[in-house]
Amino acid sequence: DYVITGQKMWITNSLQADWMCLLVNTGDGPAHRNKSLVMVPMDRPGIEKARKIRKIGMHSSDTGLIHFDEVRVPQRYRIGEEGQGFIYQMQQFQEERLWCAASSLLPMEECIAETVQWAQERRMFGATLADQQWVQFKLAELQTEVEALRALTYRACDLHVQGQDVLTLASMAKLKAGRLTREVADTCLQFWGGMGFTLENRVSRLYRDGRLGSIGGGADEVMLGILAKTLGIAKRPPR
Ligand SMILES: Cc1cc2nc3c(=O)[nH]c(=O)nc-3n(C[C@H](O)[C@H](O)[C@H](O)COP(=O)(O)OP(=O)(O)OC[C@H]3O[C@@H](n4cnc5c(N)ncnc54)[C@H](O)[C@@H]3O)c2cc1C
Repeated sequence: DYVITGQKMWITNSLQADWMCLLVNTGDGPAHRNKSLVMVPMDRPGIEKARKIRKIGMHSSDTGLIHFDEVRVPQRYRIGEEGQGFIYQMQQFQEERLWCAASSLLPMEECIAETVQWAQERRMFGATLADQQWVQFKLAELQTEVEALRALTYRACDLHVQGQDVLTLASMAKLKAGRLTREVADTCLQFWGGMGFTLENRVSRLYRDGRLGSIGGGADEVMLGILAKTLGIAKRPPR
């Protein structure tokens, strides 16, 4: 058996999960060679669901702090080879980051579409909000940005499905998705005025939920660090 001791923070759905896929140290040596991926049943003795983390958004999923105190798991619950967990995790990140980009597209489009509808209905000083050229141009440009992100994401997915290494494109797509979601949500919220500042408004939900896109699955700066390396800009490790 493996005997697992430690803690994991920020784990999505961990308070309701039956199993957790855990990256754990199973040996000595360099950090990228001493880890394994292990499937852990969440009803094992020694597992404590210590805390539900209170968040500003993403309220549809719980996020937990989990303690592991000498939790015994059979070695046959390991995924793949021992010591290869870090490599597997880095490979998994490509798909997770492509998913981040792909799953950002529709919420952004809906946010823009609902804002267009709102702007066309909202009357002020004898005209509608959508009669303002600034509002028209801004919403048109945001939709253009979403289309550009869609093209990048589809290209990255296409090459990934063909078996190519898409580290650079997936990192670009993840970075752009996080940043653009923030821009779309913030710009649209502004056009809703006070209504945008209310909790029942779907635009304000994207403003809160979408903020995670630049943090989870590797922060924007981590994506930029990868890109600086893969694009040959950074010649030395960052200080
Ligand atoms: C709601 C939620 C759900 C999550 N779910 C999961 C989950 O299910 N499983 C899981 O494993 N993790 C999960 N996470 C963790 C998530 O992946 C991390 O929060 C994220 O990777 C950032 O790590 P950190 O919080 O430790 O921030 P830190 O590493 O402390 O970074 C803080 C900030 O420093 C900056 N920074 C970081 N690295 C660099 C760098 N190299 N160069 C320059 N600046 C840098 C960035 O601005 C970053 O936001 C979740 C997080 C949240 C908030």
